[in-house]
Amino acid sequence: MEIDNYKMDYNKKPEQELLDMNTSRCTGCKSCEIACSYHHTKKYSLSNSSIKIFRSNSNGEIEYFFTKSCNLCKNEQIPACVEVCYAHALCLKR
Ligand code: SF4
Ligand code: SF4
Repeated sequence: MEIDNYKMDYNKKPEQELLDMNTSRCTGCKSCEIACSYHHTKKYSLSNSSIKIFRSNSNGEIEYFFTKSCNLCKNEQIPACVEVCYAHALCLKR
């Protein structure tokens, strides 16, 4: 999967510009969080991830959000979180 011939707007929010989540496919494995933290810091640390995955206390459903530190993996060919999501829950919008 490559991002070709497309000018991304890095000022937009990830949900608006590039990333889409199908929570029904998400297993909650947190691989995306680990990959994101490595993208930012070259270390594995969930606290440094720009994507947060968790289960709702009320109904147990998967929920997620992106923090302001998400830079849409600028300069990467594929966003790290998408690349490692083998459940295909997290996808490029295009
Ligand atoms: S890597 Fe995919 S399946 Fe795993 S927590 Fe992230 S979105 Fe969910
Ligand atoms: S696009 Fe990059 S910076 Fe944003 S949440 Fe995914 S891995 Fe993190």
